[in-house]
Amino acid sequence: MQIKKTDSGLLHSCMYLLEEKGHAIVIDPCRDLSAAGDSIVDYLLITHEHYDHISGVNEWKKKTGAPLLCSRVCAENIRNSKKNMSRYFNIFCEMQTWVPTDGMKIEQAEYVCEADLTFEDEFTFEWQGHIVTLQETPGHSAGSCIIYLDEDHCFTGDSYLENYGTECRFPGGSEKRWNMIGKPWIEAIPAGTRIWPGHFDSFIK
Ligand SMILES: [Zn+2]
Repeated sequence: MQIKKTDSGLLHSCMYLLEEKGHAIVIDPCRDLSAAGDSIVDYLLITHEHYDHISGVNEWKKKTGAPLLCSRVCAENIRNSKKNMSRYFNIFCEMQTWVPTDGMKIEQAEYVCEADLTFEDEFTFEWQGHIVTLQETPGHSAGSCIIYLDEDHCFTGDSYLENYGTECRFPGGSEKRWNMIGKPWIEAIPAGTRIWPGHFDSFIK
């Protein structure tokens, strides 16, 4: 198993490519399509609906034909340029307190994409001898989830970053739902798990 990280170029959000036996899963696809190499991409997964984590979904779908899997709420929100924040991306950049924005200004784009498979609460599937589990963790956004790869790795999007609290101020975010639902699932991640966050480097919980 190989895990490759690519900087999306948007707020330094992370795209991850999981590779096993010539097959791949892409988490939070950005517009850099070179990462997959010759692997057959079986699934596209997203940790949440914010633009910096979905900016390459349409390109990856077109190139690979792989289905996009995310939570039902996330699927609704990626269809809407207000809810995925692409319409307000420059303002969004200014509001981010946990990542350097480098004075980033992008071309104002209204971006939408479509999910192919959705789940509610939790969903588990087998992939190339591994177990992949998606668990909804609303709070940072309504459609947030974390993604386990076996028991060793967890891809946490913006629900869990090292050294930063979880930001719940954006539209669709909710401190209340975070405290009631999202946060307990983060606390339940076993100590010793390798965390692959939506921004910055991986770390051990
Ligand atoms: Zn986010």
